Amino acid sequence: MKKIGLITSGGDAPGMNACIRAVVRTARAEQIEVVGFYRGYEGLIDNDCIQLTKSTVSNIIHRGGTVLKTARSSRFMTSKGMQMAVETLQKHALDGFIVIGGDGSFRGALELSKQHTIKTIGCPGTIDNDLVGTDYTIGYDTAINTVTEAIDKIRDTAESHDRIFVVEVMGRDAGLIALRSAIACGAEAILIPERKNDLARLMEKKKSWRKTKKSRIIIVAEGDENGGAFGIGNLLKKEWPEFDIRISILGHIQRGGNPTCMERVNASIMGYYAVQALKNGLTNQMVGIVNKQVCYTPFQDAVKHIEELNPDMLQILDILSA
Ligand code: ATP
Repeated sequence: MKKIGLITSGGDAPGMNACIRAVVRTARAEQIEVVGFYRGYEGLIDNDCIQLTKSTVSNIIHRGGTVLKTARSSRFMTSKGMQMAVETLQKHALDGFIVIGGDGSFRGALELSKQHTIKTIGCPGTIDNDLVGTDYTIGYDTAINTVTEAIDKIRDTAESHDRIFVVEVMGRDAGLIALRSAIACGAEAILIPERKNDLARLMEKKKSWRKTKKSRIIIVAEGDENGGAFGIGNLLKKEWPEFDIRISILGHIQRGGNPTCMERVNASIMGYYAVQALKNGLTNQMVGIVNKQVCYTPFQDAVKHIEELNPDMLQILDILSA
């Protein structure tokens, strides 16, 4: 293994920089060159790249986002785009390739492996924490801490004005951010894509609400079937005219910010093991951390969504928010 490529792909996530740094520094210790391609598969198609050295990754471990930038590439999903990406790999004579991204990015890597024999390893980088084969994805811990901090602030104003806030958090297919932050913030209810009767539960729950306590936080994952925070908020305004109901969409602040300590450490571990995996000849595998142990999961298994949330966590939330 003499020369490897590296991209960050899909949605950005805090901690990606820590992972980039770990890949580059580990590779350096093994006398392996690293070429970083900008904007995910787009940079691979356009051969838009930078030689990553120790100095290019200095002073980035604490910064959110990704210095390699990231993108969703529709061109990579065409045969012409794929062909151009393969030509770039050949031009650089790369022996290995590391992709930091989510399930879509790993699907892309699998498609690439059908066209080129390059060995590829993935590091899970997505705030959604929705990959099989790891308890933790890069970005998730910072995102739930950002959400918790924001909702704490919303709670202060909700309490002062006796308002109900319907707060939308990220999660197109997964309610993990909503569930964790709801427990952390003492939210009164959640609505998530994985459970189909959350709205009915909310209506039922309201009957038991104390009249004296008027501030409530209802957290809605963006992929909820009832139209997100606007859908729920506008419905509740009609159904519950006795309450002052406000809608708040946290949006892209959830993707930014300095990564937490846990994020930096786990991202560093994953970057280190991604290089070791390539050295050991593994390919089409994602590095993961399960029960504090590093493990590898084939891409085709990692990208299968877990449909069910941990029922114990849901029960804990239901009991604590009753
Ligand atoms: P996030 O979880 O943050 O959304 P992601 O990696 O899942 O991250 P996607 O937009 O789903 O983000 O995928 C990133 C890129 O991977 C796509 O823009 C596309 O270029 C590539 N990709 C995804 N699926 C395929 C596929 N089936 N074939 C080829 N390329 C793909």
